[in-house]
Amino acid sequence: MRKLDTKTIVVASHNAGKIREIQDLIGSFGFTATSAADLNFIEPDETGTTFEENATIKALASANASGLPALSDDSGLVIDALGGDPGVYTANWAETADGTRDFVMAMQKVETALEKVGATTPESRTARFVSVLCLAWPDGHTELFRGEVEGTVAWPPRGSQGFGYDPIFQPKGYETTFGEMGAEEKHGWKPGEPQALSHRARAFKLFVETCLEA
Ligand code: IMP
Repeated sequence: MRKLDTKTIVVASHNAGKIREIQDLIGSFGFTATSAADLNFIEPDETGTTFEENATIKALASANASGLPALSDDSGLVIDALGGDPGVYTANWAETADGTRDFVMAMQKVETALEKVGATTPESRTARFVSVLCLAWPDGHTELFRGEVEGTVAWPPRGSQGFGYDPIFQPKGYETTFGEMGAEEKHGWKPGEPQALSHRARAFKLFVETCLEA
């Protein structure tokens, strides 16, 4: 396991919601983090079939382009009744004909697919958010961290905080969706605290324990 010995890294993402969350999480550790979007890096094709493969592709692309360590996130919503869909294709389900992303449409697509298989009760709508973070160095070394949070798919969408599919994901043990939570509640974690809630904060906690702490 390699430790990170710089406080300047690149967040290897073009997704504003993810960049905000990762900058939030690393901010507490005194990092300066620009993003692949700020640096106008070309978004690499996510040709992998696993979260790990796609996270590695994105982190290596930014590390190579910047000469700095780069931290990527590949994530998605895995729904049991849909055989794990949309999974690694979660972002694709939001793509529109003009190349933009529409999450109102994507959430409706999820609901239509669940109705089609008769998944109308909370017990039949179990799902998890998965986040795989990859830290890559310009010399090609990589470290991977996976976080998951269990929950159910809610309908109709609730809340306008967060991003993406947050309004339809209700974590297990909570009455609210991620869309109804502020960032602190969604992460559920601060340095020194044992618990984390969101998939991304759980993966991030592993990253801290592995690459930052002595
Ligand atoms: P990718 O990792 O860039 O392939 O995209 C992941 C997709 O999953 C994006 O479309 C996000 O909207 C969705 N996603 C990942 N994490 C979250 C989250 O914390 N909240 C809501 N949607 C998420």
